[in-house]
Amino acid sequence: MKTHILGYPRIGSKRELKKACEQYWAGKISEKELKEVGNRIKSHNWNLQKEAGIDLISSNDFSFYDQVLDMSLTVNAIPERYKKLDFKSNLDLYFAMARGHQKNNIDVPAMEMTKWFDTNYHFIVPEFKKDQQFNLFSTKIINEYKEAKKQGIDTKPVLISPVSYLLLGKEKEEGFNRIDLISNLLPVYFKVLNELEEAGAKWVQFDEPLLALDLTEKEKYTIKQVYKQIQKKFPKLKIIVATYFEGLQDNLKLAVNLPIHTLHLDLVRNPNQLQDVLNNTPKNLSISLGIVDGRNVWKNDYQQSLATVQKAVEVLGKNRVLISTSCSLLHVPCDLDSENNEAILNLEIKNWLAFAKQKVNEVVILKQLFLDDTTEKSKNIILKNRKDISSKKTSTLINNPKVKARVATISNEHTKRDNPFSTRKILQKKALHLPLYPTTTIGSFPQTKEVRSWRNKFKKGEISQNEYEELLELETRKAINWQEEIGLDVLVHGEFERNDMVEYFGEQLNGFVFTKFGWVQSYGSRCVKPPIIFGDVSRPNPMTVKWTKFAQSLTSKLVKGMLTGPVTILQWSFVRNDQDRSVTCNQIALAIRDEVKDLEKAGIQIIQIDEPAIREGLPLRKTDWQNYLKWAIDAFKIASSGIHDETQIHTHMCYSEFNDIIQNIADMDADVITIECSRSQMELLDAFADFKYPNEIGPGVYDIHSPRVPNKDEMVLLLKKAKKVIPENLLWVNPDCGLKTRGWDETKKALTEMVTAAKILREKT
Ligand code: GLN
Ligand code: ZN
Repeated sequence: MKTHILGYPRIGSKRELKKACEQYWAGKISEKELKEVGNRIKSHNWNLQKEAGIDLISSNDFSFYDQVLDMSLTVNAIPERYKKLDFKSNLDLYFAMARGHQKNNIDVPAMEMTKWFDTNYHFIVPEFKKDQQFNLFSTKIINEYKEAKKQGIDTKPVLISPVSYLLLGKEKEEGFNRIDLISNLLPVYFKVLNELEEAGAKWVQFDEPLLALDLTEKEKYTIKQVYKQIQKKFPKLKIIVATYFEGLQDNLKLAVNLPIHTLHLDLVRNPNQLQDVLNNTPKNLSISLGIVDGRNVWKNDYQQSLATVQKAVEVLGKNRVLISTSCSLLHVPCDLDSENNEAILNLEIKNWLAFAKQKVNEVVILKQLFLDDTTEKSKNIILKNRKDISSKKTSTLINNPKVKARVATISNEHTKRDNPFSTRKILQKKALHLPLYPTTTIGSFPQTKEVRSWRNKFKKGEISQNEYEELLELETRKAINWQEEIGLDVLVHGEFERNDMVEYFGEQLNGFVFTKFGWVQSYGSRCVKPPIIFGDVSRPNPMTVKWTKFAQSLTSKLVKGMLTGPVTILQWSFVRNDQDRSVTCNQIALAIRDEVKDLEKAGIQIIQIDEPAIREGLPLRKTDWQNYLKWAIDAFKIASSGIHDETQIHTHMCYSEFNDIIQNIADMDADVITIECSRSQMELLDAFADFKYPNEIGPGVYDIHSPRVPNKDEMVLLLKKAKKVIPENLLWVNPDCGLKTRGWDETKKALTEMVTAAKILREKT
């Protein structure tokens, strides 16, 4: 029986890699110094696994930016626009592809980035041309194997498989299917495998996440052919094929019959597939049991995991079973031991958690316990684990009978406004007195250095709560005055009191906890620190009423209340694993519902509930979509329906495609939806137009991701385009998203132009 993990976080437990990369980009450290930081992290991760007693230690799970981009460099899938730039170092070429380059007369944008399946990790999308040729360009995989070997560690290199690599990419020309590039690509993989074998490698892990998703017949066939050829050329290499994030389902027969050494299963996401796999496993195949959760932060339940191991061993025998994490540990924070501030993370809750380092230990312990659970030490470990797991089940910190009882009373009534939109529209028109093409913004205004420094000082106790709030009041007042001045119709308070749109609410809700170092890589050097939802969620006090009311008191114009929706709060947190996600989501929805009602009571007539994460919560398999969409959309409606018809509900979504979920978006029945639209030149609106979307829409008229100031003519053009497909009495005028990353100067200029653009359109009608 062997143990392994699919990969370890590479950012460093104190975000060392992030800091070093950013210093390198700023020209403050040399390439050599950056590489030394990388080497230290690799070495640390290898030794951590070695000392824990992991049998197959991963290499090539390290990356300076992204593992898919690493593969593009390995196989020389470098787009011409970067190649021709003639960088002195390949690292600079690599970073230019990752993040663009604007220095020394070179100006080239970054390659496209997209989400890694249903995680919050983003990878750089490979680009392919029709006659794409590949050859071995970067030898990173081989170098890292050798580097570890020099340190006395014989690793298992981890590679994204050739088929998954191609499928994750994009065709940049018409007239071909990228899967057909496999015959050009495979020889490069052979070369890599050859060199690895020559250097002494015995195991290689191919990540094949697409094997757990919907595949075409051609893709299935190609997967089969690829492993056949690999097996033929490298009969001695022990190949592990790693699937994760879903179950094999209809690909099961294909997967178990691949000519490989080991098939890895994600048994956290899909525990039920084990029985099917065991029923179908041919004689020589080993199975790697992904039983330690690589996507979430909870301690493993040893009893349950050991039962799974037992089940597999009964069919396969010990030698054909491996114990592992469900997926790479890239998606969890590094080390729980760093969390030693009880005021932030209390001991009872900490005791339920395991981060990457702890999960490595769990994998090893599971093997030890399985092989011998009779020693005194084993017995104690099992006993303690059982105690921790059951304390989590019964803790009063987690269980709030009142919340559970309230969720149980949710009925259809909670998901309905009093009257349909057609009626509400008339009532709202009377109540709100808005012009045609009403102008607004998405919520946040620039979070300047000063604003952030006030919060830091307040958190450190350097200024009092009073002083902090006075500063925020001043900033809010300035924002309101200024919005009035330029003539916006619906104002916002600016969100200066918020660090982050999820954290701000999590900090005020029961059932959430935060960490100090719980960073997870989002992309490149960007990390996020998701809150942990550990218990029943409830709202002890109003969360936004004070600031919204304050802002409204400063103006006779309408101020829009600003909330984050239940699905987005859920999606951007680590969620408890002891109840269905939909139940947790409903608990959050009820808390937001109460907030919406309180805002209405306080006289706020427009309330926006942001749901940018609805789309990214979609399950990976299409067959699971409707179930998710049902509870997710219902949660939004629970949050938004407890008010009078006169009160106008807005929602906001960024970077979404809407075509295949437009019915569900309509089901949300928000009175107004604002969407990110300008980069697609209003193309995203077509989904709404084709559907004859009945409610009001604010298609973003300028891109807030760049400091560039658009002029009124561009926006008039976009609005005219919008008007062609959406009735103008349904249109709003607003930027693409919140403005918190922008500076005041460009914000003021851009919004002034925007207001003028709206006026021009009004005059034309
Ligand atoms: N109200 C939020 C803001 O303006 C919305 C952010 C988002 O959609 N990601 O910052
Ligand atoms: Zn947005």
